[in-house]
Amino acid sequence: MDRSRTIKTLAALLAALTVGTFVLLALETRPAQPGSLPPLTALLPRDGAILSEIASTAVAVPRDRWRNIVIHDSVCSMDMNPTADCHFVIYGPASGALDGTVRATPRWHQQARGNHVSVPGHDYDAVSIGICLEGDLVAATPSPRQIEALANLTQALQRRLSIAPERIYLHSDLSGTHCPGRRFPLEAFRSGLLPDEP
Ligand SMILES: [Zn+2]
Repeated sequence: MDRSRTIKTLAALLAALTVGTFVLLALETRPAQPGSLPPLTALLPRDGAILSEIASTAVAVPRDRWRNIVIHDSVCSMDMNPTADCHFVIYGPASGALDGTVRATPRWHQQARGNHVSVPGHDYDAVSIGICLEGDLVAATPSPRQIEALANLTQALQRRLSIAPERIYLHSDLSGTHCPGRRFPLEAFRSGLLPDEP
């Protein structure tokens, strides 16, 4: 390689490195978007308060009782009362300091069938845990705390009850409804599920 070619090669390398450095700097210094969601895969799957809610049953959790998890928002097309008809509620910004708090409902305490999915010919309510995100997810994205709590709750239930990711549904997966609303962050949620039966 003659000298001028070597210089050209070095100059090209230097230019590429410089451009690369600026690109990295630009990425690093880009401010977080307000209200952006946390990366679900980075979340701890074990949350003490959530595990306490799961364990707060008045009767033992029957073996192989629960096969599915179904996710709703609180303006669900079932016209349900989340605290009465689902098994868990995750409070949202409308509840102020409770935002992101998970509460088991009396149906979970008693291990009673749900009242949150109606599909002719299938008794999903008998075998499906209902989780309701408080809020209208047609109008607003759930809060980062709600999403974090949902990831932790579903992962904890997956571990506890050996529920595979393909058995975690949105209400709209099972019946002709928009519940939960289109602002539910589906891709981020799916990527945060445990990959296979624990
Ligand atoms: Zn629903």
